[in-house]
Amino acid sequence: MSRLKKWLLSLCFLLLACFLWLVFSPAPEGVSVLEYHEVADSVDDDAYIYNVPPEDFRQQLDYLKSQGYTTISMLDYMKARHGKMELPAKPIILTFDDGYEDNYTTLLPILEEYGMKATVYVITNQIGQPDYLNWDELRDMQNRGIEIGSHTANHDPLTQMDAQRREDEVRLSKLLLEWNGIHTVYTFSYPNGAFDETMPALLEKNQYLTAVTGDAGLNTMATNPYLMQRVNIPHPRFGLTEFKLRLWKAEVFTKLGIHQHLEEVQ
Ligand SMILES: [Zn+2]
Repeated sequence: MSRLKKWLLSLCFLLLACFLWLVFSPAPEGVSVLEYHEVADSVDDDAYIYNVPPEDFRQQLDYLKSQGYTTISMLDYMKARHGKMELPAKPIILTFDDGYEDNYTTLLPILEEYGMKATVYVITNQIGQPDYLNWDELRDMQNRGIEIGSHTANHDPLTQMDAQRREDEVRLSKLLLEWNGIHTVYTFSYPNGAFDETMPALLEKNQYLTAVTGDAGLNTMATNPYLMQRVNIPHPRFGLTEFKLRLWKAEVFTKLGIHQHLEEVQ
């Protein structure tokens, strides 16, 4: 056998071993946080990518149920981190960004049917605008077990504004929610997933306990609570297979220790 052939054969074995390890090694310990936007059959082109049709969403929930997952809220996760609550065997967190009205009309009845919970992050200056949740809907969702979090007042990327405005976005959105009857707002979602090294301290100062990014991966008890990673679930082009692959991708990222830009922040 020529040297080149031997080398190629070794490379093939190495790649195969890596592949088998990725597929068959046990899933890393951690909590997946799924990132959704809308659950709707929208034909609107701009929003298409953010819509998960209700039938696909049901399939995803059926799959999670069949795999033994139990939904928890962000606050449940934080209570567990502080030893104040025990997590179920396979916890998972469903999050919905932006506060679209279909979260009330379509998502909430499905969640109730499945006995599942979720966290909805609202843009406070959009509340009551067309296609967005209004205050009555938000309060009713909260009473029916949905956790409400802040997604800032205006949904501008926090990394592109001065410190004063950044603080206003974080602080005033929380206050507005609480003044309008939403329970203490503990959780936050970065618009466009944009954050930098100043954010954890700013959020802590403003009495948030946790925040979610758009970075892929699972969360362990060691993950910075202000830099929680998520699994993005956009409009599925390949049905449930795509959903399974996205969950698996988060596991792979965690197994390989890929944390996108988390290192520079922690
Ligand atoms: Zn958003």
